Amino acid sequence: MKVNSPLEVYKFLPQTNCGDCGEATCMAFASHMIDRSLKLEDCPPLLEEKFKKKYLKLAELLAPEIREVIIGTGEHTVSVGGDDILYRHQLTFFNQPALAVDVWDTMSEDELTERIKFINEYKKFYVGRFLKLDMVAIRSTSGDPDKFKQAVTSVAGNTELPLILCSLDPKVLKAGLEVVADRKPLLYAATKDNWQDVADLVMEYDVPLVLFSPDDLDTLKSLAATFLEMGRDDLVLDPGTNPQGKSLRESFENFLMIRRAGIKEGQRDIAFPLLAVPMTAYLANDDPVSASYWETVLASVFTVRYGDIMIVHSIEPYALLPELHIRDTIYTDPRTPVKVDPKVYEVGSPDKDSPVFVTTNFALTYYTVESDLASNGIDCYLLATDTDGLGVEAAVAGGQMTGQKVSDEFKRVGFDFSEMTAHNTVILPGLAARLQGDMEDASGLKVKIGPPDSGRIPGWMEKNWPPE
Ligand code: SF4
Repeated sequence: MKVNSPLEVYKFLPQTNCGDCGEATCMAFASHMIDRSLKLEDCPPLLEEKFKKKYLKLAELLAPEIREVIIGTGEHTVSVGGDDILYRHQLTFFNQPALAVDVWDTMSEDELTERIKFINEYKKFYVGRFLKLDMVAIRSTSGDPDKFKQAVTSVAGNTELPLILCSLDPKVLKAGLEVVADRKPLLYAATKDNWQDVADLVMEYDVPLVLFSPDDLDTLKSLAATFLEMGRDDLVLDPGTNPQGKSLRESFENFLMIRRAGIKEGQRDIAFPLLAVPMTAYLANDDPVSASYWETVLASVFTVRYGDIMIVHSIEPYALLPELHIRDTIYTDPRTPVKVDPKVYEVGSPDKDSPVFVTTNFALTYYTVESDLASNGIDCYLLATDTDGLGVEAAVAGGQMTGQKVSDEFKRVGFDFSEMTAHNTVILPGLAARLQGDMEDASGLKVKIGPPDSGRIPGWMEKNWPPE
């Protein structure tokens, strides 16, 4: 992105403050351009012919340093790349790395179907959302175009996830494209040996492409320049993923060098998303458990440092869970606390005798409390007070959680204690004990103070509930 301030963006906007974008002013819209929470297309007047030049200029100025490549079509797409920064604390990383799990064309039909079903359905609930797998990488292990075509047909019939077609033989790639070109799969890969034939395929079928040049960045750069000249900028680079030892360090350094060249040095011909293949761990480890372990290590390393797509093999929970969690951690926007909707939630099947607990809408706090209550079978109501995503201690200290505010929150969400409960009692978290008097004054309720840690609620309930 070549502009850094809303004022610079504002110069190119219609400056009418018409409000069609949903913002009160063009300046407010401009600040959303900088943090990428809105798109240029959200300003309808800017799309008019008379603003075309400004629109095009702004699009150029706002384009991320690393190109964004879209794989798949319609609802079933994955966007990779699109970053402007080297370190998360400088802004945020935007498109999280896509995890692609492999299948291969020498699997039996039953094995293939079962593995695809697993990939489709795998999901883990974490802080209010599901962590999932993103893509299927179909590898030609037979080298036979017909077998590959058969496997691609079967996979395509069983999943809507975006696909990667993997072979270095253009005839095999063509066989796969004949089946799924309309789904815009990612083609893996063009090399210094096959690039001319692969270029023909890419131009004929108009699909994104991986350029593969292991341990040779000059060739990788030259391949990228060649495809750019052909008008292809939907490229992904694979500089090789060596699984161990000194060569692993070289792979790691190659990822760093390419990304730095793209962002710091503005080298546009190498500013593309990067693909890592952690499953190379299986080349270096005969024991599948060790291989899976090292694959997870590699996936973690390249998630932290600039891999935009990972092709992995292991579907063991001990491999997938850390991979998904580290990705989620690195790619959560550090500018925005993770929040839940501020409202009263029902845990279990509460009735008029059930307790009413209070917490904040910081997602980590909310889900910790909710899970402690649910796993202990405590039927209750739980207010997630709107503290703008702060935890209890910080919100009490900062004034985002006061007796008046909590009382108002119950009113705002329409929770009437005299209707919903037979006890007129609310339980504040132990870390908000000092709000007790204010809360009693503001609400007229009986206010009890719970434990400072929600894990201790069951023991607290034994001594304190029902209220006298
Ligand atoms: S729609 Fe465009 S012109 Fe209208 S207020 Fe938003 S940014 Fe300004």
